[in-house]
Amino acid sequence: MDGLSLETVAGWGRHPVCRAAVARPERLRLPRAGRVLPRGLGRSYGDAAVPASAQSLVLETVRADRILAFEPSTGALTCEAGLSLAEILRVFVPRGWFTPVSPGTKFVTVGGCVASDVHGKNHHRDGSFGGFVGRLVIETADGRLVECGPDRERELFLATVGGMGLTGLITEATIRLKPIETPWMFVETEPAAGLTEMLDRLRHAGKDWPYTVGWIDCLATGSGLGRGIVIRGRHASRGEAPGVPPRENTPRAVPFDGPAWLLSPALMRAFNTAYYRIQCRRTGGRLVSHDAFFYPLDSLRDWNRLYGRHGFLQYQCVVPRAAGAPVLSELLDRLSRAGAASFLAVIKDFGPESDAYLSFPLEGTTLALDLPYRGPATEDLVHLLNATVIRAGGRIYLAKDAATRREDFERMVPRLPEWRRVRDRWDPEHRFGSALSARLLGDES
Ligand SMILES: Cc1cc2nc3c(=O)[nH]c(=O)nc-3n(C[C@H](O)[C@H](O)[C@H](O)COP(=O)(O)OP(=O)(O)OC[C@H]3O[C@@H](n4cnc5c(N)ncnc54)[C@H](O)[C@@H]3O)c2cc1C
Repeated sequence: MDGLSLETVAGWGRHPVCRAAVARPERLRLPRAGRVLPRGLGRSYGDAAVPASAQSLVLETVRADRILAFEPSTGALTCEAGLSLAEILRVFVPRGWFTPVSPGTKFVTVGGCVASDVHGKNHHRDGSFGGFVGRLVIETADGRLVECGPDRERELFLATVGGMGLTGLITEATIRLKPIETPWMFVETEPAAGLTEMLDRLRHAGKDWPYTVGWIDCLATGSGLGRGIVIRGRHASRGEAPGVPPRENTPRAVPFDGPAWLLSPALMRAFNTAYYRIQCRRTGGRLVSHDAFFYPLDSLRDWNRLYGRHGFLQYQCVVPRAAGAPVLSELLDRLSRAGAASFLAVIKDFGPESDAYLSFPLEGTTLALDLPYRGPATEDLVHLLNATVIRAGGRIYLAKDAATRREDFERMVPRLPEWRRVRDRWDPEHRFGSALSARLLGDES
């Protein structure tokens, strides 16, 4: 394959890393032989888009980013898998369309969103990304181009949505965009003094608002455990928004790796307390740009460098509704006692799970937070948190993970045997593999 270069590859958390050959072709095709890992913009945090060893070719899709068709009567967009959500929004927001589900960064590809079955602030109402995919074209391990979707080659489709790139290379996708009246968002914020109030407010907001999210001060303890703010939003109507589009942000870059003192517990605590207090004052409704609402972190380019050169793990789990508050407070308590958590944690309500075998969301509450990587101590903490999550019938998000043990993963995912059967049918020799699949599925590295 032309244009190969030897590079250090890592996820957004910058741990783990691997040296491997990387190709960025303009037309997505697999090499005839050898192991391959598809990769988009590398925004998964852990090792899902990191190869297990230098034996694997990393196939980055970012240059295969053409828009192939758009049907204005339905919002159906057909594109190559390397197209980013940032580009979709640049082209389609001025024309009155928005991506149906969006993660907390727009620098992700359509292929990456399908493979992780990403969720957004609207999961409680709209479900995850896979629910808006009408058709995929997949190059399978034997070099065939196979069309699949909810109504054709359904098993391959359900194994690919949320399948972390392990069933084949997604080359094309057709997704359904949703109509919007303006590029503005109408947003309201309210404080929650503790976990029970946070959960109540999230549920209550979810009844009327399409987008909801909570930020938690994950270092608060005692009666303040789980305190934070709830943010609810919707696309603004023509009547309430200004006639001009919002001004675009120029992202600022983090020019160096953050020093260790930045992550000291005292500074983290001060940051979280200050953020909570400032946000408590911002009650009432306001209009903001969709960038400010959906992608606040994108305004700081390379913010992952703030965690220093050892990187960080993001821990994201979901706990079923019935298990609820006691389990979440146990998790927050463990984190707070370990002094391992960092900037704010994100908490969200999820709606029902989808049919895709490995899809992460499950009806209940999800919690996500960054853990600065401090070697085995951080991994032990993940195992401890996982034990609580497993007992509650929950699971962790593969797009964020880099530390979960294989036996714990198997306990979290009841549909894993079904997924394995479909994967083995389409890729019997496991040509597609990653550091994640070596760790969690026992693939050869
Ligand atoms: C700041 C930030 C906020 C985030 N917020 C959220 C959030 O709110 N919700 C959420 O769900 N996620 C969130 N994420 C995670 C992110 O949405 C996912 O990791 C997404 O998959 C990244 O897309 P990518 O193009 O960078 O894929 P990569 O990270 O490059 O790859 C992710 C997976 O997709 C596979 N893959 C990529 N392209 C293809 C392809 N063409 N064919 C087959 N497999 C492919 C890879 O093999 C890998 O397993 C966030 C990430 C960041 C950095």
